[in-house]
Amino acid sequence: MRTKIVAGNWKMNKNLQETKELLAELSAKLPDTDADVIVAPTFVNLQAAKTALQDSTIQVAAQNMHFAENGAYTGEISADMLLSLGVDVVILGHSERRSYFGEDDALLAKKVKTAIEKDMKIIFCFGEELEDRKSGNHFALVESQLKNALFDLEANAWNKIVLAYEPVWAIGTGETASPEQAQEMHAFIRKTIADAYNSSIAEGVSILYGGSVKPANAAEIFSKPDVDGGLIGGASLVATDFTDIIKAI
Ligand code: PEP
Repeated sequence: MRTKIVAGNWKMNKNLQETKELLAELSAKLPDTDADVIVAPTFVNLQAAKTALQDSTIQVAAQNMHFAENGAYTGEISADMLLSLGVDVVILGHSERRSYFGEDDALLAKKVKTAIEKDMKIIFCFGEELEDRKSGNHFALVESQLKNALFDLEANAWNKIVLAYEPVWAIGTGETASPEQAQEMHAFIRKTIADAYNSSIAEGVSILYGGSVKPANAAEIFSKPDVDGGLIGGASLVATDFTDIIKAI
């Protein structure tokens, strides 16, 4: 049985006070669930989040990290810095990191390697742009993103990987992939992993859908057999919306 996950990517939102308020509201409203619930506040509020959630089942993730152990990388954050705060989950490969900060598959492969060496859990994001979908190139593109960043991993690294399929055209746009489009791609991803590794790894990996998931559409998306939860952007910033999405899983 795969782990169900609802993760909230807060992006560059919420100052310290707002972070504490949202976490307090979230903790108070958190429904009973079998799913893992994860929030990813901005780096500077990770420590406050860990403190606020010390008695909670809600996990804390970072939105990014550098591949290097340490050194002259001004403005960057290392795995050890995260681990020293008790943060052992990291989102890598988000489309905003890819498009605004030039993160490509080769760089992401290095980050993935470091995170695995550090025994961190990775939420690995990938997905096609609108042109790829319009031209029918979306399956090939997704396959290449997975292959280039993940398929050099040893089989036993896969128990640390969570995949988040996020079609770029559906992120923050209000446009959602239909539940059928999400299922079709998630099934393709699972088959691609089965071909590259084996069916037990493919069947064991949780694949989240991300892209304008809201309380109104979450249940239908989550009802699909290969969709194991969601990576939520905008709706994770509102406690009632995020908890309603958790209830939908
Ligand atoms: C995201 O950025 O990962 C995301 C899914 O955003 P939104 O839910 O706002 O589309």
